[in-house]
Amino acid sequence: MSPSDVPGSRGDAQVVTRFAPSPTGYLHIGGARTALFNWLYARGRGGKFLLRIEDTDRARSTPEATEAILKGLAWFGIDWDGEPISQFARKDRHAEVAHQMLARGSAYKCFSTQEEIEEFRATAKAAGHSTLFHSPWRDADPATHPDAPYVIRVKAPREGATVIEDAVQGTVTFRNDQLDDMICLRSDGTPTYMLAVVVDDHDMGVTQVIRGDDHLNNAARQTMVYRAMGWDVPGWAHIPLIHGPDGKKLSKRHGALGLEEYQALGYPAAGMRNYLARLGWSHGDDEYFTDAQAREWFDLSAITRAPARLDFKKLENICGRHIAAAEDAALLHELEAYLAASGQPALSATQSEGLARAMYCLKDRAKTFPQIIEKAHFVLASRPLVPDAAAEKALDAVSRGILSELTPQLRSASWNRETLEGIVAALAEAQGMGLGKIAGPLRAALAGRTVTPSIFDMMLVLGREETVARLIDAAA
Ligand code: GLU
Repeated sequence: MSPSDVPGSRGDAQVVTRFAPSPTGYLHIGGARTALFNWLYARGRGGKFLLRIEDTDRARSTPEATEAILKGLAWFGIDWDGEPISQFARKDRHAEVAHQMLARGSAYKCFSTQEEIEEFRATAKAAGHSTLFHSPWRDADPATHPDAPYVIRVKAPREGATVIEDAVQGTVTFRNDQLDDMICLRSDGTPTYMLAVVVDDHDMGVTQVIRGDDHLNNAARQTMVYRAMGWDVPGWAHIPLIHGPDGKKLSKRHGALGLEEYQALGYPAAGMRNYLARLGWSHGDDEYFTDAQAREWFDLSAITRAPARLDFKKLENICGRHIAAAEDAALLHELEAYLAASGQPALSATQSEGLARAMYCLKDRAKTFPQIIEKAHFVLASRPLVPDAAAEKALDAVSRGILSELTPQLRSASWNRETLEGIVAALAEAQGMGLGKIAGPLRAALAGRTVTPSIFDMMLVLGREETVARLIDAAA
């Protein structure tokens, strides 16, 4: 691929961001948030958001991990412009740039062997000097070059400082005497990661590099490569990591780490986007917002410098609001994907029709898909229902007697909310009991469960025939 083939190449000032995961494992939620920030930043500015798979490390990169990243992003609802770019596929271009640096005199061939470098370090250490390698080849006359393997090193500035203007970290200064002449091309002709990143970001026209702050030190070394080529340095934004609820570095013991685990736990993608956008970035006191609002509001200056803490309660609350606001059909679609992702059986046609009819009353106050499924039991199960222990308890002899009085009235009632409410209220009054007392056994009879939508919603969704049949089943 030549530079001009890369999507995003341009001469104008359009914003271009990228997500550049290494395909060495699952898509971590930290990575997902990095992708989200880049996506929001570009999409909110009419810019481009690109995806680059950093598969240069052949030993650790796997096609399965690439697949998992693409699948994870697709579920998360993050789209990118053009085709994903393979970093490895661009290795010839990386090597070409290393040779251009040589031609410009901003890099040099270094013939030092591993032993010589180790010897240099040992001597420096013994003398109490910095052990940063100073190659004798930096200023050597090419006429003296041996016919031997060499690496290409960039000429790092020896004096002064390299300053990173970071949108999140502020001005970060690195002393140049602490940066070595890093290797850009190995002796086997393969590019180093540090070179590849810069060449790719340049060729892709990336204007803002937004990534984890574990890459902050790399920004200084990468700046050397930009300067060596006379290229514009992109804007930097190094975002703090996500920590667990206890404020410690996120690890397995904090629960889910991979994005796909969140899908399998039944969090809706819109809620995850909202929550992860809010994690480390804020817009006033707004906790709940839509993608459109996030795109409009997102800015690097409002990213917090302290690590953000995962808060599952907040995540659930935000997810609940997105579920309540979602379109029924879209929710059903997502719920079916959740079942597949969590290894549960798919819905039958009858079940999915039932869910479609019931969704309006299932989605309010449910924070996750498992909570919807729990409330949906009445429409997913078929007769005869097997009540769980709590429902069984609600169906004692007295309650069953009351239910059997209700049946004939329901048979002849017109099937709308008002009439049904009237009938049940009249029965409660005749029995001298509150509506709540009647609702318990009715719930148990209609759903075989005690956590359900309202009894009237269930009756309306089930219809007359099924409602009456369930009441008869329960009274028997
Ligand atoms: N491939 C790096 C990672 O997965 C990201 C590099 C970058 O964003 O510059 O951590």
